[in-house]
Amino acid sequence: MTPPSAKSWYAAGLRFDCRRCGNCCSGPTGVVRFTTDELKAMAAHVGLLPFEFLRRHARQDERGHWSLAERPRAPDRTSAGAADEREEEAEEEQFDCTFLARDEAGRATCTIHPVRPTQCRTWPFWPENLTGPERWREVAEGCRGVAEGIEGDGTRHDADEIDRRRDLTPPA
Ligand code: SF4
Repeated sequence: MTPPSAKSWYAAGLRFDCRRCGNCCSGPTGVVRFTTDELKAMAAHVGLLPFEFLRRHARQDERGHWSLAERPRAPDRTSAGAADEREEEAEEEQFDCTFLARDEAGRATCTIHPVRPTQCRTWPFWPENLTGPERWREVAEGCRGVAEGIEGDGTRHDADEIDRRRDLTPPA
């Protein structure tokens, strides 16, 4: 168990606002867990029955655990994004969450945002991201909202709220 907030390195809170870069919903293959209630809510939101939702938007691992599906990453139409993409593609295959969309300016949108799973709601305050300030700086390399928070820009989340979100995060 991670230490209680009063003694943790983030006792004074952490600054974070989502900047819609989309990096937490995109990149190397990953896993997004959801509960049965979350499945029902997501399926209703997109007008499907749960079994149809699973067939179209989810996948099952070798242990039988469900995750939201991914698709090969859509091309970034901004010039900066295209340059970043060429570098990333050279290193590793890239994927988007099945529900990630981007506008013309490259800003990310979650198309099921009101009913997104808990794992998405608790980002970036996942247990593995809160092990110390060094790890938090690593998270900032991929998450613009965390990076700007370290620079002092963004909403301050107090330690109790961070711990609450950390403890709600489902195990991978
Ligand atoms: S990586 Fe961070 S800033 Fe980018 S979309 Fe995800 S939460 Fe928002």
